[in-house]
Amino acid sequence: MTAKPKCGLKVAKFGGSSVADAVQILKVCSIIKMDPDRRIVVVSAPGKRRPDDTKVTDMLIACAEAKLAGRTADVELKAIVERYADIQRDAGVGDAVIREIEADLRDRVASDGSHRGRFLDLMKAAGEDNSAKLVAEIFRKNGLDAHYVNPKSAGMLLSDDFGNAMVLQESYAKLASLKTAPGISIFPGFFGYTISGAVATFPRGGSDITGAILAAAVQADLYENFTDVDSVFSADPRIVPGAAPIGLLTYREMRELAYAGFGVFHDEAIIPAVRAKIPICVKNTNRPEAPGTGIVPNRKYEGGAVVGIASADGFCAVYVDKYMMNREVGFGRRLLQIMEEEGLSYEHSPSGIDNISVIFREKDFTKEAEERVLSRIRTELGSDNIDLDRGLALVMIVGEGMHYTVGVAARATTALANAGVNIEMLNQGSSEISMMFGVKAMDRKKAVQALYEAFFN
Ligand code: ASP
Repeated sequence: MTAKPKCGLKVAKFGGSSVADAVQILKVCSIIKMDPDRRIVVVSAPGKRRPDDTKVTDMLIACAEAKLAGRTADVELKAIVERYADIQRDAGVGDAVIREIEADLRDRVASDGSHRGRFLDLMKAAGEDNSAKLVAEIFRKNGLDAHYVNPKSAGMLLSDDFGNAMVLQESYAKLASLKTAPGISIFPGFFGYTISGAVATFPRGGSDITGAILAAAVQADLYENFTDVDSVFSADPRIVPGAAPIGLLTYREMRELAYAGFGVFHDEAIIPAVRAKIPICVKNTNRPEAPGTGIVPNRKYEGGAVVGIASADGFCAVYVDKYMMNREVGFGRRLLQIMEEEGLSYEHSPSGIDNISVIFREKDFTKEAEERVLSRIRTELGSDNIDLDRGLALVMIVGEGMHYTVGVAARATTALANAGVNIEMLNQGSSEISMMFGVKAMDRKKAVQALYEAFFN
């Protein structure tokens, strides 16, 4: 057995519900105290305290919109300061930090609003930035040697795609120095700076991306993502109440599940950690003793073939028939070239002997795109028949074990048939760790329940 290194390093990211009020932040504080390896902490902006509450990020957007519409934004700004002041009072820290937060917000609101995207990002970033300052203050009051880290000085450099920024490669070397920073670094999630010094944010939910970037940059032993659920579940608990928790997933399994709408991670959020092969753990701030779900490069295959079932609606399919298509060199390429020329990104393209279908996200396949694409297929490819099916849902079963198991497809299709779900399309991913079923959107829940019953009960 190899000895555990004396001083490990974990990056722990806490989402909006974990920093929504003082009670939650004190839970975060005790989680950090439990493990001296937790030396880099990434925080979101305060999230909802109750289902009908508003996230600070949304309050900031409302504030920015008020200014952009030429109003004073004073009411909106005061409400945001009050959210932070509630936390400060309940946590029992001095109010100097609130004065600092108010001054910061006033500066932001007063800044140049001529570039909408840049101004919105400057405003949105205030949520995480001030959350990090306040959390650092509360940690210090509770005996931790915590320091707010300014993403600009730390080197979090992003592209200037405001609201949809991407990390620049040179950030990693700069951020690596956090490894040896004294005490506990509190890093605000969700934003960074462009080369020219403007604030830019990741897409919504992007604090997960910050955490993954830092974990990769410092080569952390573990990236812990604290949220408000005990683990990743094998099916959406809203569709399958009591769905089993997943103990361990591979990166590939997580990616396939996230693609089809698994809610825990932003689809591309963990890519930096995955590329650097950093193990990830999803944990619950409200129940840190629960083991959570590990996400790792590889796992030993044991037990059931399927680890999870995911589903999403909002898809449509174009089915193209042409007799002897299999002999026609270049048919598939020409079909996909039409899509490319029409600027359409397709999701899947299962094919048969005389037919091929192309699946799109419905939001991309507008009525105008439909007319152009169908008429081009008819005239340029001489197809015998074309059908368009809207209102489709994709249901995926995912598991590394599927690769080694005989009869998965038979079990799945039997379960769907017994539940009266018509399979519009079936596609086995070329990685052989997933199988995808196209069903009518109204059958989605029934399909997930039937597959869960077949593979987990
Ligand atoms: N606060 C941002 C949002 O609400 C980012 C995050 O929480 O990850 O989208």
